Amino acid sequence: MKRFRPVPYELKVLRVLNSRMILSEKERLDYINAEKGFEGELKFDQLTKKLQGEVFIINNLLLKVGNTYFQIDTTIIFQTALIIFEVKNFEGDHFLESRKFFKFPKREIKNPFNQLDRNTSLMRQLLQQLGFQIQVESWVTFVNPEFSLFQAPLDLPVILPSQLNRFMKNMDMQPSKLNSVHKRLAEKLISLHHEKSPYTQLPVYDYEQLKKIITCPRCFSFMVLLGRNKCICPKCSYIEKIDSVVLRSVDDYRLLFPERKITTQGIYVWCGEVVSEKIIRRVLKTYFKEIGFGRWVYFE
Ligand SMILES: [Zn+2]
Repeated sequence: MKRFRPVPYELKVLRVLNSRMILSEKERLDYINAEKGFEGELKFDQLTKKLQGEVFIINNLLLKVGNTYFQIDTTIIFQTALIIFEVKNFEGDHFLESRKFFKFPKREIKNPFNQLDRNTSLMRQLLQQLGFQIQVESWVTFVNPEFSLFQAPLDLPVILPSQLNRFMKNMDMQPSKLNSVHKRLAEKLISLHHEKSPYTQLPVYDYEQLKKIITCPRCFSFMVLLGRNKCICPKCSYIEKIDSVVLRSVDDYRLLFPERKITTQGIYVWCGEVVSEKIIRRVLKTYFKEIGFGRWVYFE
């Protein structure tokens, strides 16, 4: 059982907003960090994908114990243990000093080991509540080859970039047989996943202020029409069929404004009036259910 890693809700929203408005300096940094973090997780997925043994790999879980949410980048279920990985894509020289985490020369960063301790303890609580008895192990995993860590105690639960391949090999050499209890555990965890945390801080935005354009799925710049049935990104030259362009734009619209009705006119404006109303109506009619009639038609 392997589950692909979806783009996290926060990053999805930030991508759309970054293309359609000017973010503040702090918001822009949050966006860059979210993008970088996700890239690191995908890199780690490339390694876990190669595991040959009987394991369940669950990517990105947002779980809740009591009123506390916790997010786990990668969870691997083995015969004898459930292992959680906090994946970091940090770059540069870092060091630890009295339970604090710094980047050279001396900029304090949120300590990923504290985060790991917290997540591990919450995961144990959750498993206990659910009645599963399995050992929990946890690791902070640094995936960027440009990362180094100084003054790390020997017993620190860390996997450094230079250890990653060996760690995976060792893990793969341990015999693992999974049974129906493991399967039930994996299914239970997936079923408890939340799409978004109510504590996620997103930039404030409103419809009027956002740019009405078609955005490129590759580089998030704007796209223009190419012939009758395609769009092209002038920045990265990516070419996309018109149906897919319209459907992505509808997705972005729904993501940002879930309460707004989808109408031909609304999507036409949202797409910067680049694609004709006729095409938009055809796409909406093809992929969505038409509700109402005349000028009150909308799509679901
Ligand atoms: Zn592009």
